[in-house]
Amino acid sequence: MEFATPIPLHRLRPPCSPETSMLFGEASLDAYREGMQRCMERVRRTLTRAQGPCSGVEPHELQPAFEAIDLDRPLNDLDASLEEVQRLYLDHAVHFHHPRYVAHLNCPITLPSILAEAIATPLNTAVETWDQSAGATLIEQKLIDWTAARIGLGDEADGVFTSGGTQSNLMALSIARDSACEAMPGHAGNRHHGLPENYRKLRILTSEVSHFSVQKAAALLGLGYDAVISVPSDADKRMDIDALQATLEDCDEAGLIPLAIVATAGTTDFGSIDPIPAIAERCRQRGIWLHIDAAYGGGLLLSSRHRHWLAGIEQADSVSIDYHKTFFQPVSCSACLVRDRRQLRHVTYHADYLNPRDQAEEGTPDLVNKSLQTTRRFDALKLWMTLRTLGAERLGDCLDEVIELARQTYRALRARDDFEVLMPPALSTLVFRYRPGGMDDESDLEALNQRIRQTLSRRGEAVIAGTRVDGRFHLKFTLLNPMTRLEDLMPLISEIARVGESLAPSTSHPSNVWSQSSC
Ligand SMILES: *Cc1c(COP(=O)(O)O)cnc(C)c1O
Repeated sequence: MEFATPIPLHRLRPPCSPETSMLFGEASLDAYREGMQRCMERVRRTLTRAQGPCSGVEPHELQPAFEAIDLDRPLNDLDASLEEVQRLYLDHAVHFHHPRYVAHLNCPITLPSILAEAIATPLNTAVETWDQSAGATLIEQKLIDWTAARIGLGDEADGVFTSGGTQSNLMALSIARDSACEAMPGHAGNRHHGLPENYRKLRILTSEVSHFSVQKAAALLGLGYDAVISVPSDADKRMDIDALQATLEDCDEAGLIPLAIVATAGTTDFGSIDPIPAIAERCRQRGIWLHIDAAYGGGLLLSSRHRHWLAGIEQADSVSIDYHKTFFQPVSCSACLVRDRRQLRHVTYHADYLNPRDQAEEGTPDLVNKSLQTTRRFDALKLWMTLRTLGAERLGDCLDEVIELARQTYRALRARDDFEVLMPPALSTLVFRYRPGGMDDESDLEALNQRIRQTLSRRGEAVIAGTRVDGRFHLKFTLLNPMTRLEDLMPLISEIARVGESLAPSTSHPSNVWSQSSC
């Protein structure tokens, strides 16, 4: 077909072209500055107005406000939409920097890391290929090399940033699985042919208190939860080496194939660090892949006082590190590292349009070749700006601070006779329960501690975690705020006891609100 008359260029424009303030670019820089100013005002308002770490709102209270919103009817106004965000989100946001937020592994974040987000987001760099990122690729690579060197993985190590410990564990176990299957006689590899016939014999060994993402990964990898053998832990919640040895022998006897042992450096509930050198020795003897989940304990790499707790980590075949936990970085910022970069071939796929094979052979550093993700955020800039502005040592000091705080808090809880503390802290968590004199009934204790937690959160006073140890409900503090002092936590401990006392069924409190709602 032929165009008789060329279409004038102006007629190719869309019927209503966007105004300069709609999309980011040179023409919208003034609108950008203006908008950022208002966003910062919202953040200031949110932080200065907050009375506690949370508002205590419950889903059924917030849900109606969402039901009233029609996403097909825009507000067409920045201030109106910020006002709406204030109401729906900011007024109830949970504040991880608050001293009475002591629930999960969420950390206050460094200022340079937030500023890095302010650079990387407008430019919207995607780091999967060199042609989309240039220097960003090298920034990520240098941080990977730095982390690998801190671990001591050797000259052949490599890795990639991930969305979190869950993805890092999945990636590591997927490589471990493919590596184990490749070694099976008569099997040409999982990538082309899928799992070998005897895949049902594959097992992953990990302690009973490791992270649930190991089970999840096993299921996603086609092996199922049942392929994960939970090795008992000792009194300090570290993998019991005799039990590991016995498990390995049981596997031999049953003809099962352990494809990996996952050791945890900092369990989520207890902060306990598995005996890495002894586990590494078993792995070496038997040629089993050693994955170390250091999602929580990874920050010890920077600690001047406690780096030795990670002794043996250099023997790992792969390591998960969550910079968004003990490196004080914004979500998300994590990495998966491997000792032998050739193993990363198990996650490589060459697409002609994106990362063709010849491009890799020419040496172009396309990070997609070693990632489970394709389009990927430039999360590395946050850590880069932090290290270049503040330095690694100061991050290590922050972790040392919270480890010390956990020890002080442990002693404070132990000094009281109405609290029962499970064990001394290993990193920065404390698992305990309120137990007034004479209360022995397990279900009463559970109900009481559950109610204490709900009450404090409902009142917006404190966010505390809960967990179960051997079936028994406990409260948990996860301390990750280096600015928090024991003097901040003492009133919280007293408040827990006060609430507990008011709720506990006893003859002196005939009006206890045992089965009523807390507010
Ligand atoms: C937090 C955690 C994970 C999961 O990491 P995400 O970043 O939440 O995906 C895995 N393992 C351990 C030990 C963790 O503490």
